Amino acid sequence: MIALNERLQNAFRQLGWSRIPEVLHTHAEEAAKHNISYLEFLDKLLQEELAAKQDRFIRMRTRLARLPFHKTLDQFDFSFQPSIDERRIRDLATLRFIENQENLIFLGPPGVGKTHLAVALAMEALKQRYIVYFTTAHDMIQTLQEAHQTHTVKQKIKTYTKPHLLIIDEIGYRKMDETAAHFFFQIISERYERGSIILTSNKSYGAWGEIFGDSVLATAILDRLLHHSTTINIKGESYRIKEKKKAGFFKLEGGNLSKPTS
Ligand code: ADP
Ligand code: MG
Repeated sequence: MIALNERLQNAFRQLGWSRIPEVLHTHAEEAAKHNISYLEFLDKLLQEELAAKQDRFIRMRTRLARLPFHKTLDQFDFSFQPSIDERRIRDLATLRFIENQENLIFLGPPGVGKTHLAVALAMEALKQRYIVYFTTAHDMIQTLQEAHQTHTVKQKIKTYTKPHLLIIDEIGYRKMDETAAHFFFQIISERYERGSIILTSNKSYGAWGEIFGDSVLATAILDRLLHHSTTINIKGESYRIKEKKKAGFFKLEGGNLSKPTS
């Protein structure tokens, strides 16, 4: 019996199966008790191993996606943000927009849930086995500028063109200089009609000329970005401030937020 057990463990190790050794004995006892056929028993074990493999795969892809946090749509309180149509977001979660290489843009002031929603859709996409990559606009530009100096742009750009879904967070917090704006344009152009982008910005489209320091370039970027796209305009209060208010961090004075005096 020991020899058999050892041989089994050896075989599992060589095959790279890690789940079956954990559940083998429970399933074997169960099968004996309930008269489960050999084939059914084998099927149960293999299904467990396949599910575990799928889990590992998604976990690895999730790590590679570099999401800033892990939050789902179910953790999003739609009642707090009535300007968002929940049905529309649930429809986006079917991920047809990724299948069709369309873009999705969340616009709105800080704290209204743009990044949360982008991350939640990204997690849905990871579950459906899509390759996802998350970056802030600033990090992406900085990475490409560094790569430019070491003549590795061609390789580095693949980080942003290869995923089925690229999330570019926080456009508009900083203005871009000319080279930065051109790198940005390059990414948008290369992904145009090839791969989806989710983009978040605190600036309305009218202000994009200012972000890119060049209205012609901003128009060219918007033209490609918006051709097949959905824009979700979020108008509302910051969730962060709501939480702070709840904790008594702020009080309202004449409609303005200020720190409590005491
Ligand atoms: P934004 O990207 O628009 O600045 P975030 O998505 O980063 O805002 O949201 C700020 C924080 O508040 C995050 O921790 C996010 O999970 C949370 N949050 C924002 N809106 C909601 C909401 N409607 N329900 C639950 N959590 C929310
Ligand atoms: Mg954000």
